[in-house]
Amino acid sequence: MKHNIVSVSGGKDSTATLLLAMAWDVENLQAVFADTGHEHPATYEYVEYLEQILEIQIQRVKADFSFEIESKREYVKTKWPEKGVSNSVIENALAVLKPTGNPFLDLCLWKNRFPSTRARFCTSELKVKPIQQLFYPILEDGHMILSWQGVRADESLDRKYLPECNEVIQGLYNYRPILKWSAKDVFQAHTDMGIDPNPLYKQGMGRVGCMPCINCNKDELKEIAKRFPEEIERVAEWERIVGLVSKRQSATFFTSDYRGHGIHQLVEWSKTVRGGKQYDLVEQMTGIEACSSAYGLCE
Ligand code: SF4
Repeated sequence: MKHNIVSVSGGKDSTATLLLAMAWDVENLQAVFADTGHEHPATYEYVEYLEQILEIQIQRVKADFSFEIESKREYVKTKWPEKGVSNSVIENALAVLKPTGNPFLDLCLWKNRFPSTRARFCTSELKVKPIQQLFYPILEDGHMILSWQGVRADESLDRKYLPECNEVIQGLYNYRPILKWSAKDVFQAHTDMGIDPNPLYKQGMGRVGCMPCINCNKDELKEIAKRFPEEIERVAEWERIVGLVSKRQSATFFTSDYRGHGIHQLVEWSKTVRGGKQYDLVEQMTGIEACSSAYGLCE
């Protein structure tokens, strides 16, 4: 039997992919959403909106790092004293080394650091592996899975040369039906099917995913801080908690460098131009900004 499983992130591309699968009325269609615990509330609401308007159930999957955190506790208790780590640092770490139920935060507690563009373990731990857990029983029963992915070639060089379909392991195929689509095509599909895009696109977000994503650029960070300061405060609190688990008693969401240390300093840097030395005077003097939606959706 063939299973068509669409990974839904709440973003425009995966939504368009789901719309396409529904329009083609494919057999055994399932939709799955990997909840990182680091999404904007609007994205959670949007996934519910899709369920209601499309009359389809979107299965939520969530990574669980309870076992890893328990192992880490044991390691901190038994090995850190041997390594000469001070009692106060060990006490601080043990005070917070407990599963919170938030996958992103728990992952960082386990790793005692945040993911980064060089160590991007978040995607595999929070999205790929939880979705794979769903695939294994189906494959073990001898069924075939077409894993639908909302990936577009014009998003990046890495994606430009991806095949439309490839076999990953026996019986499991990655399928990218919108590979050749433009962002405009994607939004057009929403319009054609009478579906609203995630409202975050109209609020200056070029992409919808973790809030913020470790790959977010300067302008996106600036926009997030301006529109959703509560998300910045959440990350600042996470930096405090994850910092307590590290031997250095410090952890930052974005790499510390010339831009600053910690999310608050990075937000200040995001408001600057010319390599971070000068605030954006044009915007400050005129109050006029360019269209804040990267897709021209602002009204
Ligand atoms: S959206 Fe960004 S932060 Fe979230 S899992 Fe993907 S790469 Fe990591």
